[in-house]
Amino acid sequence: VEYRVSFPRLHAHLVDVEARFPAGGEVLDAVLPVWTPGSYLVREFARQVQEAAAFDDAGRPLPLSRPDKRTFRVAGAGGRPVTLRYRVYCNELSVRTSHVDGSHALLNGASVFLTADALRAAPHRVRVEAPDGWRVSTPLPAEADGGEGGGGGEVYVAADYDALVDAPIEVGPHARRSFRVLGVEHQLVVWGGELPGVEAFLEDLARVCAEAARLYGGLPLTRYLFLLYLTDRGRGGLEHRDGTVMLFPRALAATAKGREELLSLAAHEYFHLWHVKRVAPRALTPPDLSRENYTALLWAFEGGTAYYDTLLLRRAGLMRPERYLTRLGETLSQLQGTPGRRVQTLEDSSRLAWVKQYRPDEHSPNSAVSYYLKGEVVCVLLDLLVRRATRDARSLDDVLRLLLARHGEDGVPEGGVEAAAAEVAGADLAPFFHRALRTTEELDLSPFAHVGLEARLRPRSGTSDRGGTPPRAGREGREGDEASRGWSGLSFRGEATVSAVVDGSPAMEAGLYTDDEVVAVDGWRTDGAGLLARCEERAPGDVLRVTLFRRDRLLELPLPLGEKPHDAVWLARVERPTEAQKAAWEAWLGARWEDGEG
Ligand SMILES: [Zn+2]
Repeated sequence: VEYRVSFPRLHAHLVDVEARFPAGGEVLDAVLPVWTPGSYLVREFARQVQEAAAFDDAGRPLPLSRPDKRTFRVAGAGGRPVTLRYRVYCNELSVRTSHVDGSHALLNGASVFLTADALRAAPHRVRVEAPDGWRVSTPLPAEADGGEGGGGGEVYVAADYDALVDAPIEVGPHARRSFRVLGVEHQLVVWGGELPGVEAFLEDLARVCAEAARLYGGLPLTRYLFLLYLTDRGRGGLEHRDGTVMLFPRALAATAKGREELLSLAAHEYFHLWHVKRVAPRALTPPDLSRENYTALLWAFEGGTAYYDTLLLRRAGLMRPERYLTRLGETLSQLQGTPGRRVQTLEDSSRLAWVKQYRPDEHSPNSAVSYYLKGEVVCVLLDLLVRRATRDARSLDDVLRLLLARHGEDGVPEGGVEAAAAEVAGADLAPFFHRALRTTEELDLSPFAHVGLEARLRPRSGTSDRGGTPPRAGREGREGDEASRGWSGLSFRGEATVSAVVDGSPAMEAGLYTDDEVVAVDGWRTDGAGLLARCEERAPGDVLRVTLFRRDRLLELPLPLGEKPHDAVWLARVERPTEAQKAAWEAWLGARWEDGEG
């Protein structure tokens, strides 16, 4: 299939596409995916396609019909080539959709390129007619001589349709920076302003990439492209075979904390170039883009990648061991603060990504657990178990390498991760996997003892307390500790609107609902932050009189405060580590036990 894309109406957020299909049968069914690989939600891309028309090779119109939501049926092709012309509305700036405006065009192939099922394995070529002064950046290789026929623009070649939709295309006036890892060119394109300190960022990024390549023993590509979109809000990333699209808040990127998070995001997507893009669940090898694809293995692929996205920073020497433990403690705290972990199993979280993970609502924290979050914790524990079972001779690194070597071609069967882990560990891990993946029992955190750590629990000191750190010493002007402070179980969005109520919390028992708008406590005007402050000032058992609007009706409810849950986790070093624990720590974090101690 040969495409020509052009942008005569940037301000209408439209891309014009002409798709030339080779001679086939009497009828051509051209189809568009309903989802894009890596983002498990049916997005119905065809809803943004308009003004589709079909022509024969002499330019005569052919009848076009729409038998279903994603099919464009051309009758009377008569075994000759068919040309489809259509426009796609692209006005969603995210990592998994397309965005076209006066500043640039980001094309996600799954939302733009129609193909035919019979042609999926055939090469697909794209001629991009960039507006004057704009250039094209994509992981797709450019055709050497610009291809046959006339017309301007560079031609890019995808070996098949899956490669086409796995290669984002950025068109705009951007600059392209590059660096090398193991001799392979890596490019960075930034949209939405300059990335502050970009040169230092690239140096750090190169070290992270080198660490990942070291784990996998080389780089299976000839060029990698980081596309970074700086925005006022929103963040995320989507992995591609030879590149990634990342969204990150512009203001945050200028801070040290934001820099660490951005590096971690880039490390995450980069790690996927192996772990998802060169070995994936069999259910996604190749993906069926016409409907949902179900696998219970996303915990291993996303959770595993989430584990390594921070661990790689530590291994590259960009994060101190204590900082790494704080980050890990924050992850454990996030899981402990999610009531849904007691409701949904990890395998169900993975299978139901299509209707849960990607379609969150106010009830999600109470009813579901993220396969990223719990998956990461399970992968940390699995790593420690493998290390313990092999006296630190093997690790999760070996499991990942085995998965790639064994299942790179045909994908990992549903039991494949468990089998590979047991093989590397040389131990029976079935009880661990059963509990972690197929029950809602609390995870057993005792494997941290292998590296001289102990997971401890404490109450949070406020809504901004993300855990990961030891309890703070008593604050000035306050007697006692967190146990003497009241707790409601409410969260807010905006000024005073309840965004979530923790399952079983005092607020839920008192009958406060999501979307209630708090206006006063004990007869005095306040907002959400004020109510939470009152909770901190008062003690468990005290009763707040909460005045609120619910669907425009003024209500007053008594809210008896409860005790804070002990859901913040921190990792404490054991007081007298054995030599084996010190050695295991060093093997795990690449630093001496004594470094950064105390
Ligand atoms: Zn990921």
